[in-house]
Amino acid sequence: MTNPAPIPLVDLQAQYAAIGDEVHAAMEEVLRSARFILGPEVQAFEEAFAAFCGARFCVGVASGTAALELTLRALDIGPGDQVITVAHTFIATAEAISATGAQPVFVDVDPRTYTMDPDQVEAAITPQTRAILPVHIYGHPADMARLRAIAQQHGLALVEDAAQAHAAEWQGRRVGSLGTAACFSFFPGKNLGAYGDAGAVTTDDPALAERIGLLRNHGRHEKYIHQIPGFGQRLDALQAAVLRTKLAHLDRWTSHRRRLAARYTALLADLELVLPHVAPEASPAWHLYVVRTPRRDELLAHLQGQGIAAGIHYPIPLHLQPAYRELGYRAGDLPVTEAVAETCLSLPLYPEMTQAQQDRVVEAVRGFLEG
Ligand SMILES: *Cc1c(COP(=O)(O)O)cnc(C)c1O
Repeated sequence: MTNPAPIPLVDLQAQYAAIGDEVHAAMEEVLRSARFILGPEVQAFEEAFAAFCGARFCVGVASGTAALELTLRALDIGPGDQVITVAHTFIATAEAISATGAQPVFVDVDPRTYTMDPDQVEAAITPQTRAILPVHIYGHPADMARLRAIAQQHGLALVEDAAQAHAAEWQGRRVGSLGTAACFSFFPGKNLGAYGDAGAVTTDDPALAERIGLLRNHGRHEKYIHQIPGFGQRLDALQAAVLRTKLAHLDRWTSHRRRLAARYTALLADLELVLPHVAPEASPAWHLYVVRTPRRDELLAHLQGQGIAAGIHYPIPLHLQPAYRELGYRAGDLPVTEAVAETCLSLPLYPEMTQAQQDRVVEAVRGFLEG
């Protein structure tokens, strides 16, 4: 018997095969125009993405990490300040805080949605706290209604890390419009991905958009005059062309993700496995479909043996990373975060996934848990 084709965690080649011609045409226009830095293509994408998110402004930047860092800097966050965030995330969330000189303060997550626990936030607020930085992890929005109430009550900025959650909704409103500002990554494997590094910030605040626009471009809006010392962290026009082309497909891709997620949940329901929980206020973007089992490492190896790529997001929480040793956290400080890190497994999920591929994943999981 020949081995069936491997199933990847995400399939960017299949996506490229479907939309390559459209992307080539958009990129060729940029090449012909020779406008590679900012200019009309970047502006057109920014307008389209702001409209998509239901936000007034969008500022394209060089990466999701840059989006986070420039937003915190634009809010004047720096040395002596604290920003409350989660340890159950990609390290860029906390790196952006450290890069400003501020201190990341990690709080635990909700045991069902794995997003920031608002009760823990209230307990972590100090006179040094300047902002709350929740992460819409796996594409499931954090509890933005409660976090907004806490931020307002204490006069704090509320910055969404929406890197995994393009098109996700909370109480019927898209992420990107739910706080002071929202930071998006267009890393290739994200739900909306460039062909390289790219990111964006959305906000309704004109002054904040203006400041981030300056910071990304050496503190200038016009040649030779630098209003503030800034950075070279722009979104480039070729990536903007790729993103604007792909944005037209994002609603359809998100619907496919939702259908596949619902199908996983139906087909895996009878197994001894913790399946993703969806809060009643949430419509997730399903960046990842994450299950939990105490036998996670064995299940991962079993799937790999059948040519199925699964992933761990993330095996070591940030408060236990060597990079943050100096903050003084210990194992046991964030029990829910640590339990999730030890048991979580991301199953393959991407818009181009076929039902036959999904059935193979389900059968492999079933074979392991029942075998
Ligand atoms: C991907 C990601 C980032 C960083 O985005 P880059 O574009 O890779 O810099 C930040 N936060 C989260 C939660 C992410 O998943």
